Amino acid sequence: MLAKKVPVLNVMIDSVDMTQAVDILEDYIEEKKTHLIATANAEMIMMANEDPELLAILNKADLVVPDGAGTVWAARYHGHSMPERVAGYDLVQNLCKRVAGKGTKIFFLGAAPGVAEKAKKYAEKKYLGINVVGVKDGYFSVEQEPDLIQTIKSVKPDVLLVALGVPRQEKWIVKYLNELDVPVAIGVGGTFDVMAGVVKRAPVWMQKAKLEWLYRGMLQPKRIGRLMALPRFVLKVCSLKKH
Ligand code: UDP
Repeated sequence: MLAKKVPVLNVMIDSVDMTQAVDILEDYIEEKKTHLIATANAEMIMMANEDPELLAILNKADLVVPDGAGTVWAARYHGHSMPERVAGYDLVQNLCKRVAGKGTKIFFLGAAPGVAEKAKKYAEKKYLGINVVGVKDGYFSVEQEPDLIQTIKSVKPDVLLVALGVPRQEKWIVKYLNELDVPVAIGVGGTFDVMAGVVKRAPVWMQKAKLEWLYRGMLQPKRIGRLMALPRFVLKVCSLKKH
């Protein structure tokens, strides 16, 4: 299944809803060859416009889902169809739910020591039959990478979830994807933090009111500076001709 890609500030985003996105991931797992998946919110798109390496990675990625109300709004503002928001966290939950009990092997890489382990426990409780074959925190040195690669290769995951923050996680995946030979590698940002209960997701009413970005900024004051990416994103989108 091939989704239509539409441009949002130079980044090609797949026009997919959640069910289609998970269907595509299942196809990738079947296909066996490697695939890079990114979840593009306004902040990532702004970053890509200032980081040619990240932009090239996103535009070569197999699947880039519309993560965030801003991405969906911008695509529609320019006259493209974009069915719904596909948040990275929700994509991971839906994928876990879909593959639980099917033997699909998942590896959790990233977040602070102990967090991926807690996220694994959460997944095992919530998605009965899920097969998490390995976990490793995201605080390793370049010197430790060869061992880490061997560890991942030895368990042959079908899905590798990488939470090292944007853009490090996308660049890390591209660097090692062929060697790892993983059918599905997804950059998942703060997903393990939320699954582990270390960071709370915005209440549903705020998510529906498209205010999750504000909640995250309030909860993690170190993100306040990063929040400025959103108004800059809106201004940039509006400065382009509306369709
Ligand atoms: N992280 C990591 N190694 C690092 C830097 C960050 O594992 O060297 C983790 C961090 O603990 C967090 C995730 O990467 O779990 C990034 O989360 P954030 O919410 O910042 O995601 P983003 O907004 O970058 O997608």
